[in-house]
Amino acid sequence: MEINLVSDTVTKPTPEMLQHMFRAKVGDDVYRQDPTAVELEETVADLFGMEAALFFPSGTMANQAAIKLHTQPGDQLICDKWAHVYLYEGGGASFNSGVSCSLVDGNRGMITSLQVEEHITDPEFYHNPKTSLVCIENTTNKGGGACYDIEELKRIKQVCTDNNLKYHLDGARLWNALVAKRQHPKQYGELFDTISVCLSKGMGAPVGSLLLGDKETIHRALRIRKILGGGMRQIGYLAAAGLYALQHNVGRLEEDHRRAREIGVLLQQLYWVDKVEPIETNILIFSVKPQFDEALLMEKLKQKNIFISSMGKGKLRIVTHLDYKQVMHDYVLEALMKIEL
Ligand SMILES: *Cc1c(COP(=O)(O)O)cnc(C)c1O
Repeated sequence: MEINLVSDTVTKPTPEMLQHMFRAKVGDDVYRQDPTAVELEETVADLFGMEAALFFPSGTMANQAAIKLHTQPGDQLICDKWAHVYLYEGGGASFNSGVSCSLVDGNRGMITSLQVEEHITDPEFYHNPKTSLVCIENTTNKGGGACYDIEELKRIKQVCTDNNLKYHLDGARLWNALVAKRQHPKQYGELFDTISVCLSKGMGAPVGSLLLGDKETIHRALRIRKILGGGMRQIGYLAAAGLYALQHNVGRLEEDHRRAREIGVLLQQLYWVDKVEPIETNILIFSVKPQFDEALLMEKLKQKNIFISSMGKGKLRIVTHLDYKQVMHDYVLEALMKIEL
């Protein structure tokens, strides 16, 4: 039994999900003739109270399309210094859209309305790049699954409105935030110009993301998706997995959060653990005391078939997910307790 806690992207479709995919009605989506893809797009758009949605092969492509939609070459977007759009998309903002990123020194990947205000360039001062977009991440990836206070997001929205900026939410793990904060997707739909969500993380689908927005924006996104090579044919099989995930795998994210918290509580009691960062969702970041070797810890866990990841500088990461079951959890707690470093 291999226990992979490296990421929530390691999940594999269950037999039930595969059955659902197997039975999907499909067509050529490049001609917009795939009924299941359309059903998924309409379902998710309705859920968020937004006009339209478009299926993407990855969250990266959905974010990159959003940046392209909201900017012109030479513009600047504002995001946290740890933002996925800046740090983990291969430099796509500059490659695809010719824009630079003005980086905010946020807290666990989260930025404030005041920080956004400070980073906006004067539109009349033409020496500076023009600020045109603010990108938010919820939950934060490198920030360890932290969730925004919705009031802060509303204040940032106000700054965007006042300064004529577009507002994009990278919601790869927004489902986790919705469950943890007991929020409704419509609370986000009314705030943002575009939202990207992933189906292939905690949701357990093998592939797929969606970009949401108004009709005109999503119509323009169709061309950008094509340019990026994301126009695909019989994607109903993938969309069916997404529909299945929406029906079955959202509420249960609470279990992932509980297990992450329980691991955190245990870690805090162990003599070799230095600090456990706050645990709000399914990501747990902790560090070992300087006199202990994190590589040795990872090796000892590996010998017990438990895989976690290192973030460098003594920090380690554990991510819980759909395929991490209670028996595995009991085994992991036991194993951690017995580790000698
Ligand atoms: C995973 C992730 C994405 C998208 O990743 P893909 O692997 O391209 O689907 C985007 N933003 C955040 C915050 C993520 O964690």
